[in-house]
Amino acid sequence: MNDFDKEILRGKFVEVGDAISRHESFVIMSHVRPDGDAIGSQLALGFSLLAMGKTVYLINEDGVPESLEFLKGSEKVTRPPGEPFDVEVAIALDTAAKPRLGEGALHASGRAKLWINIDHHLSNPGYGDLNVIDATSPATGQILYELIMALDLPFLEETRDAIYVAVSTDTGSFQYGSTTAKTYEMAADLVRRGLEVGRINAETYDSHPYRRLELMCALLNTLEISKNGMLAHWELRDETRVRLKLMPDDSEGLIDLIRGVRGVLVAVFFEELEGGKIRVSMRSKDKGVNVCEVAQQFGGGGHALAAGIRTAGPIEAVKVKVLAALDEALAVRV
Ligand code: 5GP
Ligand code: MN
Repeated sequence: MNDFDKEILRGKFVEVGDAISRHESFVIMSHVRPDGDAIGSQLALGFSLLAMGKTVYLINEDGVPESLEFLKGSEKVTRPPGEPFDVEVAIALDTAAKPRLGEGALHASGRAKLWINIDHHLSNPGYGDLNVIDATSPATGQILYELIMALDLPFLEETRDAIYVAVSTDTGSFQYGSTTAKTYEMAADLVRRGLEVGRINAETYDSHPYRRLELMCALLNTLEISKNGMLAHWELRDETRVRLKLMPDDSEGLIDLIRGVRGVLVAVFFEELEGGKIRVSMRSKDKGVNVCEVAQQFGGGGHALAAGIRTAGPIEAVKVKVLAALDEALAVRV
């Protein structure tokens, strides 16, 4: 990010600060099927605002996944109630497109007069009244760390741990190319503030249910790699989800197993969701293959190297179309 963009971002932080001080009630949301950055971001900002004495509702369409329940304060994040909240401000975090907040969450936040959109997705169109989009940031959690520091907001243990988990999970444990010196400096600061590195990493990464291994086994049985070895994909069918009693977050991060194969440039995960929709998750290892652009062809979005789609089935038709688009993107890669 150049100095000009940094100045713009600082200006946006100040605007968010003004909005926070001018209002008393907030509903903070993140995307459906939330990951560590989604829930972590909600808790990080939520606990800062709560400590300022604000009225804060934390909602997520799908609630907190079992794998993130260890986060202190996570019980404060609930599914949306049927009735809209009487709130002044709606804050969307880590959510590339407004519909990804979910119908229930949109209904519950419907009375808010001011919308704040804080995110790091390249494809975010800026659907808020106030938009803080920093696509150079590896996680929304890192934007919030900078925001909280810049505005000198209260920094509770809940915020500290939530930011660490948000950034750790969105950077593949501080490994992806999106990780910057600022990210490591932030992590060092969190440790100095008392974060227990061993405990929090064990809770994040070494505490999976056994069924996740069974899922891995089932996925491996569907693995296909293209003749040139560059495109790998696997799929999860309804039948397997039901048989293994899977929860939505059981597959979180598993795509990295096929992304990690030498020669593979693009990894894809096709999944039949309850209700008939298909979820496509894509990862690229090559800057010349922008999977966000491919996702956008199908109404999805995300980042250049990690993107996703939700679309109507059947899965066979989706596979044919998406794989063809990826073959094309691989063929013309720069
Ligand atoms: P994942 O594959 O981990 O679900 O998602 C990868 C990235 O793409 C995430 O940053 C996520 O927010 C984004 N993404 C996933 N699915 C969708 C989708 O259906 N629409 C949009 N706009 N973004 C998505
Ligand atoms: Mn994120």
